[in-house]
Parts: sequence; C-alpha cells; structure tokens
Amino acid sequence: AKYVYAFTEGNKDLKDLLGGKGANLAEMTNLGLPVPPGFTITTEACRHYLSHGSMPAGLDAEVEAGLQELEKAMGRRLGQADDPLLVSVRSGARFSMPGMMETVLNIGLNDESVAGLAARGGDERFAWDSYRRLIQMFGRTVQGIDGELFEDAIEQVKAAKGVTSDLDLDAADLRLLVDRFKEVVRERTGGPFPSDPREQMVLAVRAVFDSWNAPRAVLYRRQERIPADLGTAVNVCSMVFGNLGMDSGTGVAFTRDPATGQPGVYGDYLQNAQGEDVVAGIRNTVPLADLEGIDAPSYGELMGIMDTLENHYRDLCDIEFTIERGRLWMLQTRVGKRTAAAAFRIADQLVDQGLITLDEAVQRVTGDQLAQLMFPRFDEEALSGTDVHRLGRGMNASPGAAVGKAVFDSYTAVKWSRSGERVILCRRETNPDDLEGMIAAEGILTSRGGKTSHAAVVARGMGKTCVCGAEELDIDTKNRRMTAPGGEVVEEGDVISIDGTSGEVLLGEVPVVDSPVVRYFEGEIDPASDEADDLVRSVDRLMHYVDAARRMRVRANADTAEDAARARRMGAQGIGLCRTEHMFLGDRRQLVERLILADTEEEQEQALDALLPLQREDFGGILAAMDGLPVTVRLLDPPLHEFLPDITELSVRVAVAEARGESHENDLRVLQAVHKLHEQNPMLGLRGVRLGLVVPGLFTMQVRAIARAAVDRIAAGGRPRPEIMIPLVGTVQELEIIREDALRVLREVGRESGVELDFPVGTMIELPRAALTAGQIAENAEFFSFGTNDLTQTVWGFSRDDVEASFFSAYLEKGVFGVSPFESLDVDGVGRLVRIAAEEGRAARPGIKLGVCGEHGGDPASVHFFHRVGLDYVSCSPFRVPVARLEAGRAAG
Ligand code: PEP
Ligand code: MG
Repeated sequence: AKYVYAFTEGNKDLKDLLGGKGANLAEMTNLGLPVPPGFTITTEACRHYLSHGSMPAGLDAEVEAGLQELEKAMGRRLGQADDPLLVSVRSGARFSMPGMMETVLNIGLNDESVAGLAARGGDERFAWDSYRRLIQMFGRTVQGIDGELFEDAIEQVKAAKGVTSDLDLDAADLRLLVDRFKEVVRERTGGPFPSDPREQMVLAVRAVFDSWNAPRAVLYRRQERIPADLGTAVNVCSMVFGNLGMDSGTGVAFTRDPATGQPGVYGDYLQNAQGEDVVAGIRNTVPLADLEGIDAPSYGELMGIMDTLENHYRDLCDIEFTIERGRLWMLQTRVGKRTAAAAFRIADQLVDQGLITLDEAVQRVTGDQLAQLMFPRFDEEALSGTDVHRLGRGMNASPGAAVGKAVFDSYTAVKWSRSGERVILCRRETNPDDLEGMIAAEGILTSRGGKTSHAAVVARGMGKTCVCGAEELDIDTKNRRMTAPGGEVVEEGDVISIDGTSGEVLLGEVPVVDSPVVRYFEGEIDPASDEADDLVRSVDRLMHYVDAARRMRVRANADTAEDAARARRMGAQGIGLCRTEHMFLGDRRQLVERLILADTEEEQEQALDALLPLQREDFGGILAAMDGLPVTVRLLDPPLHEFLPDITELSVRVAVAEARGESHENDLRVLQAVHKLHEQNPMLGLRGVRLGLVVPGLFTMQVRAIARAAVDRIAAGGRPRPEIMIPLVGTVQELEIIREDALRVLREVGRESGVELDFPVGTMIELPRAALTAGQIAENAEFFSFGTNDLTQTVWGFSRDDVEASFFSAYLEKGVFGVSPFESLDVDGVGRLVRIAAEEGRAARPGIKLGVCGEHGGDPASVHFFHRVGLDYVSCSPFRVPVARLEAGRAAG
C-alpha cells in the first residue's frame, strides 16, 4: 500500500484515505491555490498502527521520501541550523472531530535552529516564542506531561518580571522559559527534550495516531456514531507564520454569511498573530473587510480564491488563511457549517446560479433544519433594540422562545402554573424529581450540564424550550434568586426570557412571534406575495420539489377535528393514527369508569349507549376535516390506570367515611374493583385489544360510531374513508375475533342505512410477537401500522414513561447511544423487526398497506429507514408533517 500522499497527489474525494483536511488541502493545491507544501499520511497507516501497535513496514521510508520532496520544494532542510524548515503535524479524520485529537506546531526547532530562525526572521523574540510553543505542545501531546506544569512556569517567569501579559515577555525571558520547559521535560520523562528534528516529527505522528483513542475522542465518536475503527490521517505541512509583524496575520473567512446565507465578505482577521491566538481571544479581531485597507493585494487575492472555491465546491466554504509578510497562504478549507435559514437560502441561490440542481439542493437541507425554522422565536427587532437586557448565555439545548416568571423549584413551578402563571424553571441542574415542574414550565434554564444533561434530554423529548449549562449565571435555589455576571439579580417572580435557539437569557419579557415558515405552511403567507421573504420562497420551492419526488405519503396523528384540519393545511395526506382514548378523558372519564367497573350487563349497556353518540360526533368532525383522505381510527388503547380512580384517594375516602361512621357502600365497591384491576405495570397490562376482548361491546360500540359517522358524512355529500385499526395485537387469534365483530357491525350499519361500508380493518404492529408472526397476522389485516413507541418499549424492555427521565441522560453521557431510541428508531434492533414484519406481511398479502404511526414517523433519520424498507406512508404529529415530507423526498432522491 501507499501510505504517504503529497498534497499534489490527493483530491477532495479521497476523504476516507486522507481525512477531510488532507483531501481538501490536496484539492486546493491542485486548483493552483497557495497552499504551503506538505504531505498526508493515510488513515490506513493509522489503522495498521492501532491494530498492530507498530507502524506498517515501509512507512518510515515513505515518510522520509515525502519529507525530502518537501525539503527540495522549500529549498531548506527540516531543522536546518541556519535557515530551518519547520512543519506542523496535524490530525485530520474522515469526519470532523473538533478539538478531539492532537496537533503539534513548529517541529524542527532546537538549540541550533532557533538561532537560524531568529537570524532569518530578523526577530529573536519570535524565534524563542516559537521554540517554547513547540516544547509546550510536544511535552503535552507527545510526552503526556501535565500542561499545568508549563503554565506554572510561564506564570513564574511573568511574576518574577512583574508583568501579567505573555506579550510583555521579551526574547531573553522566553529563552529563560525554554530552559525551564526543558527542565520540566527532563524531570517528567527522565530524558532531554528530543533535539533531532526528524525524531520530533516521527514521535509527533505517532502521538496523533494515538490521540484517535484518547478518551474524549472515543466518547465523541460513540455519541456521534462515528465508527471507532476509521483512524485519522496526519498532515505534515510546512509552517507559515502570521506572527512576523504587522504585515503578517491570520484569519478565517466564509464565502457567504453562514448566519443568513447572503453573499458578501464574512470573516475575521487578526494582525501579527497565529491561529491559536484567534481562538484564545487574547486580542480583538477586525472584520475581514478591513483587510482591504491593511493589505489590498492579499485581500484581492483572497476574494478571488473564495470565488474559485465556492464555484468549485458549489457550496459555502469556510477557510483558514495566514498572511506571512504580505504573502497569502491557504491553511484549510471545507464545506462550512451554517444556520438552518442559511442552508435553505444557499441551496436556493445556488440553483439560481446554475451551480447545483434542485435534486442536489434538497440534499443540502435537512428536516432538523426545517423543524428549527418552525419554532416560535423572539422578535428580531425587539432583540436588536436597546430595551433588551442580556443576562448571560448557555447552551442551546432545545429550541424555541420562552417567557415567564423565574421560579427555582419544581413545586412552585407547578403551583404557579396551576394558577395561570407562565413560569421558567431555573435550576442548577435537574433530576427526575423536577419532572412535574418541567412539565408545568414554559421553559427550563440550568447553570450546569451539557446538551446531554437531564434537563436537555427531557426538554427535547417534551419539545420544551431549554437553555442549559449557563455557567455564568449563579443560580441560588436556596435563596430563590439568580445573579448574572453583570451583577443583576433575578428574584423569584421576576420575568425572564430564554432563547433555546441561541442560548441567550434575557431580563424581562421579549415579544415572541410566530415563525413565518409556519405561517406559510398554515397558508397564511402566500409565497408569491410581498409578505414572503426569500426564506419562505426557498422553503416553498424545495417543498414543491420534494412533494413531487417522494414515494412515501405523509399522514398525521390527530385526535380532533381542529388538529386534523391543521394537519391537512400542513400537507398531511390523511390521518395515520386517531387515538380514541383521548376522546374519553375529561367529563367522559366517568362513563368509561362505569363501563369498566360495571357488574351487570345492563350497567355496561347503559354506559356504552351514553358513549355512542359522543363518539359518533367525534368521528364525524374528523372525517369531515379529512374528507376524501384516509383516516385510521384506532380502537381504544388506554393504559388502564388512566381511567380508574386513584387508588390512594379512594382508600382515604373509604377510611374517612368509616371513621365517621358514614355510609360508603359505593366507594367500597369501587375500591374493591379497582384493587382487582390494579396493575404494577399498566403499560404491559389490560390495554388495547386485550381490553376490547375483556370488556364486551366496547370495540363494537366504537366501530358502530365510526360506521354511523361515515353514513352521516355520505348523506351530507362527503367522501369518508375511515380505516379501523386494532392495537396491541400479539397473536392473530386476538385480531380475528375483533375483526369479525367489526366486519359484522359494518355490514349491519350498512344494511340499516342502505350504503355499502367497505372500510379496511387492520392492525398495529407494536409487539415483538406480532412482528415475528406478521405472515399469519397479515391474513387477517388489510394494513399494518407500526407502533414503534410500544415496539421500542417492548424490544428494549424500556418502560417508555419512565426511562427517559431517569437514566437516559447517563446512557447518553456514557455514549451507550447518541440519541434516545424513542426519538430516533433503533435500526439494528427495532428496525430489524419492522423489516421482517414488512417482508412477511407483504409475502402473505401482496399489496398490504404498510405505515408507521409511532413518534419515529416524524424523525428524519427514521423516515429514511422507513423509505428503505418500503413503507407506504409515515404518520406524525401535525407540526412534523412538513419535516416528514421533506425527508421522504430526500430519501427518494
Ligand atoms: C405506538 O405504540 O407507537 C403508538 C403509535 O401507539 P401509542 O403511542 O398510542 O401507544
Ligand atoms: Mg402503542
């Protein structure tokens, strides 16, 4: 194998072999752009090293040959005493792993060449500063020395001189520092700092390879689902210096604005500095446009290069560059990150420019980005006005804009929200005890913890705005107040605003506006009108394209006529799940209670008779809203505890009545019945089809209500298309009994009304046994709808109501999974069952209709999987419908 590629030999498509950075450096080199010469050691060499513990045979010779080429091109030798070539050794994997692996700069310096560098650069301070940086970086990354020891030495030298800034150290001080650093190295390693430049380079390469398995890199990969065995490439690149005076500098640039997507000059520049100085924020950068006044020729050249890159990559690029004494060098480029709004605008503009096709454009945007554009947001004008007062900033853990009174404990959050107050729950961090408060709050703010902290995970799961880890805010829950770095104090009850999209925390009420993208989807903004901005027009254009391109249909989960109507406006092509248990809450709960607890057939009949007209009306409204489109009505599937009186309350009532000697006949009777029906784990208890079989007449009543509602609609000139769906089926026998009854009712109502009611009857696949016996089940089902919520619960053995709030944050932090399997489908496990059931279902009943109605129906990654296994539709909450449309279109592309 060939392990070393000069930059002239690679190209941008070799990312697997050369890593992202190496491939793009090669691409720029071949475009004739000014890249400092260098070479890349392949990921294959790294893989060999990691699995064998030694470098592959021949690598040393190839590296030596690569280095000699480089020396020839530069006319200097590595570490040459009078005029040294210096190199950087940088990691660069296939996937960007920001800051996770190592880099060593200034390789080639030693006691001799430092003088050569000083002589040639004409600057002694610069040379000694470069040397001390080498020892420091090398010591830390290659020799594993605690970085604190070097920092301490710097502090000591500064203190001895009575200065506070690194910039106040002169050449003599830095020279002293180099001696101190060398002492540190000797103390810690028992040997001298390696002065042989080639040895420095070889050791640095090895250290970069090793850093692939540094704990933080391992954790990052686990969370991002980057395969652990890819390895990193290493780029050896000749050093150029931005810190050689005011005619030198370093900067970053974007080929257009990564925040908005608008074309223009965007970036930052720092004179007389190296890349690390920009990152460290020691001095203030100037806007890139100012470079024109500082160094017009370099500025002009850079603008030309940016054009070349954008046209070549046909996308927004970000760039790192250095100017060394008036000479421009390109250090890195890649297709750049951007905000959601910028992604849509850029894709649209590039189509207009003829650089990409619409097909490519839809691959440049994601459903997650579209979802971000749909959250309510703070009014831009108010945000940029002088009235807003920023308290601080944390991590943007869950998007949206929330306003409310600050409260500092869950109990108060619940109490205040019950009395109609909007509250923001502020905690240092949250734990499962805070759950009720989180549900009651408009938004959640924490001062500790990252994007996988409990607060962040749970808030995202609830779709609730959350800013987490705002460390600069001192949240004092004991005294119910929080203090901002500026000294402002927020007491309990003071209004604050939190922005889950930017992470900002603001004092007072900032006005919230609906997203224009939602108003567009709702039909309130006509994309052809003046009211539509270019973002709305971009979204409209891409949505038209994906709607035509996709194979899968998109339905909505909706239980009310209003939700159904909204879903339809959002583009839903029917209802994939109407959960009828939601229709039994509120006042009707008592009727259900009566039905379940009925002792006699007569009592049961009465309860059913009372429910029938109510259900008929429910279904009528939904069928009207979805006229002409399929509406899958799921027969009742309540976990039983949702409908029975609370056992504790009831016990207390009975005990009190007994103590007072009052009559309590009825309560006692109910209590006994509730005891009998009480379940330890209602999710695995008397639910779904089981309830339908045990409480005779219940499902019959529901089917009759559906049939009569349909007849009403037909009489009114409508085109109702109900589909009857039976939940939680584990075996075909369960299905058979209910289905026969349903078909009988349909025939009966059909006869009564004189219209033929030929509605499909199907089942949910939400238990492993159902998936594994899908062939048998399909004989008795005209359609399958995968209930991936319950299927995930039962395949993993995770209680869906409990685990996310209890231990999932720990699982995410340990990297067991990067995302909750309730959020994004576990393709390998749950997905395998979906695949099996789809295949066996189709084999048994060709043309059987297949859909999914679990939460995963609106999750981008899951939608792609459902497309691959050939489902006919996905169904998701009305708000996710546009996201699912987009992803179904992208999946088909
Ligand atoms: C499911 O289990 O995936 C489903 C859609 O049903 P529910 O969430 O109502 O149990
Ligand atoms: Mg279910």
